[in-house]
Amino acid sequence: MADKTSKQPENIPGKFYVDQNCVPCNDCIHEAPNLLKYNADESHVYFFKQPSTPDEIKAARNAISVCPVEAIGEDGE
Ligand code: SF4
Repeated sequence: MADKTSKQPENIPGKFYVDQNCVPCNDCIHEAPNLLKYNADESHVYFFKQPSTPDEIKAARNAISVCPVEAIGEDGE
């Protein structure tokens, strides 16, 4: 389960976030390329946009489901 107390600092504030466990493996970006991207040194990914439409929310939840290390959470603020 993702940890909202260890969010990557670049995440845009909101419910969805990537935490410090990100490998990064890139799988989530395939699911939600309009929401997630690599940070500057490609050491992890983060949400540059919070989902707002039903399709975007579905894409964000698909990203959660494919993450092999459970680094993506939906319980942020
Ligand atoms: S799927 Fe998980 S481990 Fe892979 S890049 Fe995304 S957040 Fe990081």
